This record gives sequence, C-alpha cells and structure tokens, in this order.
Amino acid sequence: MIQLRMRRGVHPPEGKLSAGKPIEEFPVPKQVVIPLSQHAGKPATPLVKKRQKVKTGEKIGEASGFISAPVHSSVTGTVKTLETVLLPNGSSALAAIIAVDEGEEEWAEPTWPMKDLSALTPEDLRTITREAGIVGLGGAVFPTSVKISPPKEYPIDSVIVNGAECEPYLTSDHRLMLEHTQEIFQAAQLLKMTVGAKRGYIAIEDNKRDAAEAFENLVKGVGDWEVVLLKTRYPQGAEKSLIKVILGREVPMGGLPFHVGALVQNVGTLYAIYEAAARGIPLIRRVVTVTGEGVKNPSNFLTRIGTSAAELLQAAGADLEAARKIVFGGPMMGMAVKAPEIPVLKSTSGILVLSSVKKKKVFPCLYCGKCVYACPLGITTTRLVKYIQAGMWDQAKAFGLFNCMECGVCSYVCPANIPLVHWIRYGKFMVRMMEAKQ
Ligand code: SF4
Ligand code: SF4
Repeated sequence: MIQLRMRRGVHPPEGKLSAGKPIEEFPVPKQVVIPLSQHAGKPATPLVKKRQKVKTGEKIGEASGFISAPVHSSVTGTVKTLETVLLPNGSSALAAIIAVDEGEEEWAEPTWPMKDLSALTPEDLRTITREAGIVGLGGAVFPTSVKISPPKEYPIDSVIVNGAECEPYLTSDHRLMLEHTQEIFQAAQLLKMTVGAKRGYIAIEDNKRDAAEAFENLVKGVGDWEVVLLKTRYPQGAEKSLIKVILGREVPMGGLPFHVGALVQNVGTLYAIYEAAARGIPLIRRVVTVTGEGVKNPSNFLTRIGTSAAELLQAAGADLEAARKIVFGGPMMGMAVKAPEIPVLKSTSGILVLSSVKKKKVFPCLYCGKCVYACPLGITTTRLVKYIQAGMWDQAKAFGLFNCMECGVCSYVCPANIPLVHWIRYGKFMVRMMEAKQ
C-alpha cells in the first residue's frame, strides 16, 4: 500500500458520526417523487402518463440527448401526476409522483442483456450504464456511459477508484467499501477492461484504514492494481486533486481527466454498476448518510430514489425544531434547503442537520492570501471575485471561473468571512445566463 498526500486544501473537523453504522435498508415509502432531471445534461423525456401503473425498475424517462440519462421508477405503483417540483439546488424540474401499490412488489425486466460478468465486452458495459441510468454518484452526476467513452485520440492508461470521501460527516462510501468490497472491485475491473487501462488505483483516505485494508486483501496478487492510502485532506476526493496526487498529472484549465489519460470513478457509482451488470437493477436506490448534531441516531440508509428527506430525518431522530440548517450533501459542497420534504435524488450522498450555525460578520479583504494558498487549483480567488463583483465576465472566465470546482476551501479559510464560493457560483450563473441569451 503506498501513502500520499495533497499539498493544498484543508483538514476540517471530520464529524464522521455514522462511520460505525452499518447500511440499513430503508422501508419503501408510500409515495415517491422522481424528478426527470437528476443528472448533468438534458432532462429525461417522460415515458409515463397520469394513472399509469409502473413496476420497480421500469424506465419512466428516456435520455433526451448524448449528455442525458434515463430515469426509472424506484417502486411498484401508480403515477398520480407529473408536476414541477423543487430540487435541493433551488432549481425546479418535472417529476413523476408515484403512489406505491399495496401488496407484492413487481420488478421490471432489465432493458439490457444479462450475461456472466466475465463475458461482458466494453460495448456491453456502455449499454448497461446508459440503460440503467447510471451517473456519477460522487456529486457531479455526469452520465457514466459518456464518461467511459472517451475520444479515441485520448487513450486512458489509469483508472482511479475514488474512495476518498473527504467531505466531513459523510460515511455512505465508507460503509459501501466495508460492506461491498468485492462488488466494487469487480465493477472497477470491468471499468478498467472497458477503457483499456493498464493500471488501477484504489484511493482511500487514512481515516478509513479499515476500508483500505479490505481492498488491500482483495488486490493482493492482482498485479495491475494498487491501494493508495491518502493523508486525510479536503478536497482530495475531487477528480483533479486525485489525479495530481496519484499520477502527478495536471488536468489543463477547461480540460477533463481523459486529456491526461485518467478515468476517476466514485465507489458508489461502481456499486451501482455492479447492481446493474450482475443483478439487473437500474439506479433506483443509493446509500444516504443522515447525520449532524441535530440527529439522534446518525445512520446510513439504503434509500429508494424519490423518498422524501423528511422521512429519513424522522427515522434518524432529527430535531427539526432546533435545526438551524438542513443541508443536502456535505457541509463543504452541500446545498442548504428550506423545507425537508425534498426528495432523495441520485446525487444525494447525505442529509445533514446542523443545530449550531452562527451567522458570521463579513469584513473587508485583509489581503492575507490564505484563500490563494489553500485553493487546490491555485486560483487567485481574490482577483477572480473582484472581476465577478465588477461584472468583468471575460476577465473572470480567463481567470479560471469555470475551472473552479466550488469546493468551498477559499471561503472556509477566509478570516474576513467573505463568501467567496457564493460569488463564484453567482459569476458562473451570470455567464451561463448571458451565453444562453446569445
Ligand atoms: S476558487 Fe474554487 S477551487 Fe479554489 S478553493 Fe475556492 S471554491 Fe475551491
Ligand atoms: S482569505 Fe479572505 S481576507 Fe485573505 S486574501 Fe482571501 S479574501 Fe482576502
């Protein structure tokens, strides 16, 4: 096992309250709300109508372009209606609201051919990931079938399994790695075969040594795989950070991992690939960590997509009266939500209830340079934010606006409490809006 660490970034208090809690299967709710836009790219096109009966795993939305993904029913029931609902990031999307039928659950047949895993070809895996609606579960929700089809002129030599889970509080990937080591590794081998990589790395931070040891036992004797133990640091799990730390390669500004011969895949996504390839189950469930100081029983629930967050919070004993903030995701990159009735999406790694959030007074910049030093991408954040505040969009773009991965490290270290990452998000929103109008 090799040991490495990233140079920049931060090490916030870990708060992994649910690390010792095994994954529990959350009961099927009475109703699910399944948005047709849960991925990067175009929303899926609805395939169902009001009052239509659907089976578990049935496709209810078809991918509507190259960068898009299908969506499946996570339950057996009847479509009550199709209506626009609020998503955790504050946007809205058309969703199928499905009332669950009482009685036996019926499963739809997979829409891809089922084979022994050893007989799968690269084209089979691309078909499976596309048909099963698999997207990156580490946060980016980019369609996996597109990610594993890089342009021919950019051969992939290295696959990195991302088990860093560097966000504080979240433990869903940790539990998956402990409880489904074998399945994750099998999917990782399929991925490596698909892109024709020579080497594979399993990257895990040193606050999850037990998971690293579990993989180490598995890869012993498999010559082309290596477990890499990383010194715990945020945002080490970001693709660009992992590639830099493990391969020593810099993804160019505006570039993607394939530009430097790498493919990074999160362990949750790999488990979803295994479920689809070996069991014929599309992406209709995921592990969600429900945690925070405002929760009595921090938990890791295997949850059907579309389940209301309110039900998970209740099951984990959340005190919503005392809650100061509910966050979808981790405390660094997550989105604060106003109402807990928002549904669990493919991207929901965790739901966090914080009961001690203080409003901080913002001071003028002290020119201390802490934000620049800590930024994992070396962006001169102070200058970038000045361009955004002045509406100098071309300069902001040239200065790395879209290179920023919104990790929040700059805001976290700023002694003047300047919400730098909020300014950057605002800048991206403005530029995208103006470009859409042109
Ligand atoms: S500028 Fe972007 S990438 Fe750099 S620390 Fe801030 S949020 Fe992270
Ligand atoms: S960390 Fe805050 S105060 Fe220091 S230079 Fe950056 S923006 Fe200014």
